[in-house]
Amino acid sequence: MAYKILDTCVSCGACATECPVSCISEGDSLYVIDADACISCGNCANVCPVGAPVEE
Ligand code: SF4
Ligand code: SF4
Repeated sequence: MAYKILDTCVSCGACATECPVSCISEGDSLYVIDADACISCGNCANVCPVGAPVEE
């Protein structure tokens, strides 16, 4: 299953830097994951300071 980013995201951008397939982008109020491109590696969850990325 792909990961998604919860609304606890503080838009620090750390996850986007660590995503191996560059499927995380900055949205209006938080970062968003392109679920079709996500390979569920977990990097985003590992680097997020607030635990916002979760597996769907
Ligand atoms: Fe990118 Fe991996 Fe996070 Fe999916 S789980 S969004 S591939 S860093
Ligand atoms: Fe949001 Fe966490 Fe990504 Fe930072 S690392 S942009 S807080 S999801």
